[in-house]
Amino acid sequence: MAIKEQMLNEIKECEKLLIGIGEEWNRDEAKKEDSLYEKLGQLIKDKDYFIVTTLTNGELLKSGLDPKRMVAPCGNVTWRQCSKSCTKDIWEPGEIADDICPHCGEPLTGNTIQAEEYIEEGYLPQWNAYTRWLAGTLNKKLLILELGVGFQTPTVIRWPFEKTVSVNNKAFMYRIHGSFAQLSEGIREKAESVPVNSVNFFRDFS
Ligand SMILES: [Zn+2]
Repeated sequence: MAIKEQMLNEIKECEKLLIGIGEEWNRDEAKKEDSLYEKLGQLIKDKDYFIVTTLTNGELLKSGLDPKRMVAPCGNVTWRQCSKSCTKDIWEPGEIADDICPHCGEPLTGNTIQAEEYIEEGYLPQWNAYTRWLAGTLNKKLLILELGVGFQTPTVIRWPFEKTVSVNNKAFMYRIHGSFAQLSEGIREKAESVPVNSVNFFRDFS
């Protein structure tokens, strides 16, 4: 069976669907392609899913997918925080017109891991929602799609996903990446490596 049909079948049959989106989706062409997220949405809209992304561009949040089912632990550049971290306040886009911290007068900066001192309160509520959701996958048929996640921040998606697939007897993972699709020893029986750029793969998906 062709890999895409096999994957479509797995998506149809799984009870829980965990998706990781990594740096391959940060390419300019991916950003311009709203249709990529639209396609993803069409594919998963009826599923019990959760999406984790290492991207900080805020595109996922604008995608129309349910924000209660996603988390961006590395932050979101369109959300603003004080560059001196004088406060844990985080502002939405446009909320502070002059982009200056109303508390200390220093410039605001993106609420991401790039900030000198990252205010983690921005993503923590959704992180908690994610860990609760994940706890509910343990004895369920769990499908994991890891899309373009390399080694920039492997502690966020790549390594934890390997652990998740290995502790759940009914889990299966597809690791799709143009250069880093290799599988570690412990998960080879429960995962398939798809050595193709995940943006290209997804563009022609269905
Ligand atoms: Zn400040």
